[in-house]
Order: sequence, then C-alpha cells, then structure tokens
Amino acid sequence: MLEPVQMWRNKGKCAGILRDEYMFSESSAKTKEGKKFCTGCPVMDQCRTYAIAHDEVGVWGGTSRAERRALGPDITKIIQFEFYRHRLLEYRPGFGSLFHELEEKLRLDENRSADSDSDLPKSA
Ligand code: SF4
Repeated sequence: MLEPVQMWRNKGKCAGILRDEYMFSESSAKTKEGKKFCTGCPVMDQCRTYAIAHDEVGVWGGTSRAERRALGPDITKIIQFEFYRHRLLEYRPGFGSLFHELEEKLRLDENRSADSDSDLPKSA
C-alpha cells in the first residue's frame, strides 16, 4: 500500500532541504550527485513511483528521468494506474468498494468466458 504523498516526502533524506541543485538537474554530473544523495533514503520506492507517475524531471528515487523513461510506456501506464488508484482511495475511501465490485465483475466475466469456452465442441 502506498503512503499518502506528503507522509513519505516528510521522511525522505531530502525533506526540508533545498533539493533543486541536486534533484531537478538534468546535467550528468548533478544527476550522479543526486543519485548518490538518494542512497539509503527510506522512501526510495515511493519517490520513484511518484516520479514515474508524473514524468518528473531530474533525480527522484535514485533514478534519472532517462532511466525511468526506459521502463517503456506499458510499464509506465501500469505504475500510473496504480498510483492514481491509491490516490483516489486516499481521498475517496468509499471508492474502494467500487474497485472491489469491478474486480469481482471482471473475475465473473473471466469465469463465464472460460466456462463458455469449455462448452465448445472439442476439435478432433
Ligand atoms: S529518494 Fe532521493 S529524491 Fe526521493 S525523497 Fe529520498 S532523497 Fe529525496
């Protein structure tokens, strides 16, 4: 489960310091320094997920933008979907039942589809 953004940000190594010099630079020297700075940060995963979901510039979660973009569009979309699903539940917890209903419906549809496939005559 992802923590609300403000909660993990306050736990980051860079919390309360001016990050611009390291974190938002695209120069390779600064990127290297920023990545080194992130080493050992307790919220590295949340930070990286956030940066992927927002296509952030610079070093976030110990990765450069180029490294995050190298994940490709499919993985990026999955991460964005999960990020926004958690964000929605953060602000509208009642939507949890909606997701649960959708998941149940998809499961039922999958089962129905599998059952109807098994009703088809087997080819010899
Ligand atoms: S991983 Fe790096 S950019 Fe992210 S919160 Fe930690 S120190 Fe800051």
